[in-house]
Order: sequence, then structure tokens, then C-alpha cells
Amino acid sequence: MIPYGHHDINQDDIAAVVAVLKSDFLTQGPQVPAFESAVAQKVGAAHAVAVNSATSALHIACLALGLGPGDRLWTSPITFVASANCALYCGASVDFVDIDPKTFNIDPVALEAKLIAAKVAGTLPKVVVPVALCGQSADLKAIRVLADRFGFFILEDASHGIGARYDGNYMGDGRYADITVFSFHPVKIISTAEGGMATTNDPVLARRMQILRSHGITREQHEMTHESDGAWYYQQVDLGYNYRMTELQAALGISQMSRLDEFVSARADRARSYDQALADLALRLPYQAPMTASSWHLYVIQLADASRHRAVFDALRADGIGVNLHYIPVHLQPYYLAKGFTKGDFPMAEDYYARSISIPLFSHITDAQLQAVVDAVKKHVGV
Ligand SMILES: *Cc1c(COP(=O)(O)O)cnc(C)c1O
Repeated sequence: MIPYGHHDINQDDIAAVVAVLKSDFLTQGPQVPAFESAVAQKVGAAHAVAVNSATSALHIACLALGLGPGDRLWTSPITFVASANCALYCGASVDFVDIDPKTFNIDPVALEAKLIAAKVAGTLPKVVVPVALCGQSADLKAIRVLADRFGFFILEDASHGIGARYDGNYMGDGRYADITVFSFHPVKIISTAEGGMATTNDPVLARRMQILRSHGITREQHEMTHESDGAWYYQQVDLGYNYRMTELQAALGISQMSRLDEFVSARADRARSYDQALADLALRLPYQAPMTASSWHLYVIQLADASRHRAVFDALRADGIGVNLHYIPVHLQPYYLAKGFTKGDFPMAEDYYARSISIPLFSHITDAQLQAVVDAVKKHVGV
């Protein structure tokens, strides 16, 4: 089976992890801050906070932004469940905004309409989470204008998007989003096995997230309520978690970061091959919005004939093509249906679900594997 995604590990990556195993620190040493600096510097953010997953990053980002009971978070229905669940961890509620069927990202027009109605009803969100689906940025410039007009924070879920560009710079540079989150799960662009990072230009948000990732504890005198009792002393000043990244993961991350641009250009190159090879089939191929340069986490094809979706998907799997579907609309998950969402709430997202298939794409997919995918898609989709 050709997987839909696969990590790319070389000898340097392995050597970096082995070196940490032989060092004095397996956790809470120098690798994590070095990885944070590498990411912050690369994407052009002032601060980066490493944690053990993007899910943890979303959680502490929401807490740092002050999301709590009685507050609302809005996100796209076409995302991994973590983009929505982070609100519920904080005791806030979740709602969704339908997608733009071309970009598959949150639709700024639908967002504006929903904000206008929410303002009248007194139900404005505190946080909006635009998701960079497949590694292509949402229309953050338009969303920033709405954030300033309606007073919400932008927490960008760029789990797919490290190395992608938007409006000329790397995503996560903090020009439009208050906080951006990346994932380093093995199917994503770079991997630390499990791992995530939050970037921001706001030092207060960064510091809050640092404290929250490690039990809500500080060792800084100026953050304590009284004079330190001694050299051993620390204070718990908030309710935090153990969301720390290990030194092994950070060392792997540093090594992987050195090849980030290579990974993204290899993915973009393979995506162009698919664009050409699949151009004349009964499919919609990925659309690239102006101002974006995707990291190409996913290559999503959409069947013109949705009634053949299940049959084509099954036939591709039977032919050894490890296709997948990103994502089942979150509002249709039983957990969210039980909160009152129903089928029909977000028609564009549901139409996306009815016809989309993610085909294999990763940095080191071979020509032969790519050709096998193309042949199978041609065979089962037709013109
Ligand atoms: C992978 C992913 C996450 C969660 O990332 P983890 O690092 O596995 O916690 C969140 N949001 C999106 C859009 C993702 O693709």
C-alpha cells in the first residue's frame, strides 16, 4: 500500500537523536529552546513555544487568549477534531463557519455574515480558528480585517502548513494571526514523532503558554507573589499541564527543520506532476489561491460525480493506493451532533466530504509510486 503520507528521516536525524540519548538531558535541556529559536527564526516570529502536540498547543493557546466558560470559538468544519475540541477543554463553546468550496478553507464572506448576526444576538466569538487545509493559508488578510472590526483573536491552525507561504512570508510570522500552531506528527511536513509549536509576536501570550505547558509553574522572581524562599523555590501561579516536548523530539525537529524548504519544494514538485497527469479526468484538482504557496501537506482530488465517491475510494484502496479523506465534517461527529449540530448545517463542507479523496503525497514519493497512483486514478475515475 502506498501511504497517503510518510515521514522523511535520514542519517543526520538519527544521529541527532542518538546524540541526545548520550547527553545529560532527555527533557528540559538545551534542545527545546534551540528548536524554538530555529522555528521562530525560520518563520519570522518573535516567539515560539514547543509542546508535545499541536493539540496541546491549541489548548494552551486558547487559555493564553483568555478563552473560558461562556466564551465562543469558531472554526472550519473541514478540519481535524482538535481545532474544535480545544474550545471545549477550556469550557467554551464551539460553532463552525462554512468553507469556500474552492480553497476548502473558512469562507470570509460566510464569516462576515455570521459575525454580523452574532453581533446583533450578542454571541460574538472570542477566538476564530482558521485552518490552513492541505497547507494552503486561509484568507488571513480578510479575516484580520474582521478580527479588528468585531474584536476576536485569530488562532491559526497551521498544523499542515510549516514551510508554506502567505502574502510573501512564511506562515506563522504573526502579521495576521495572534497565535499560529504547527504539528509535527509523522504525516505532517516535518516530524518530531509527536510534537507541536505555537508562534506569536506577543511576549505576554508566549510567556503564558510557557507557564501553561509546564504545570503553571514559574521560577522567575518577578512572576512570584513574594520573595523566593531559596534556590529550590518555584511557584505555581496558574493551572497548567505537562505538555512539554522532550529533548529527543526537539533534536529531531532541529535536524528536520534544516530540510524544511527541500521537503516543501519536493512536495510542490510532485503536486505539479499530479496537476499535469490528472488534468483531463472527471475531477476537480486543488486550486491555489492568490498570495498563497502551499506546503502541500495533502493533495485532494474531488470527483465531479459524487455518487461514485465510495466506489472510487474503495477501488483505489483495493489497488494498493493508500487514499484517505481529510476530513469528516466535525459537526457531523456524534459528539458534536449531540450538541445540536445537524446534517445540512454547513452545506459546502458536506459537499466537500461527499466528493473528496486525499491521494498519496510525501517528499520522497518515487516516480514509480506516483505513476501507480496516476494510473489507478485514471482507471477508476475516467474522463
Ligand atoms: C494533525 C492536526 C492537528 C493535531 O495535531 P497533533 O500534533 O497530532 O496533536 C490539529 N489540527 C489539524 C488541522 C491537524 O491536521
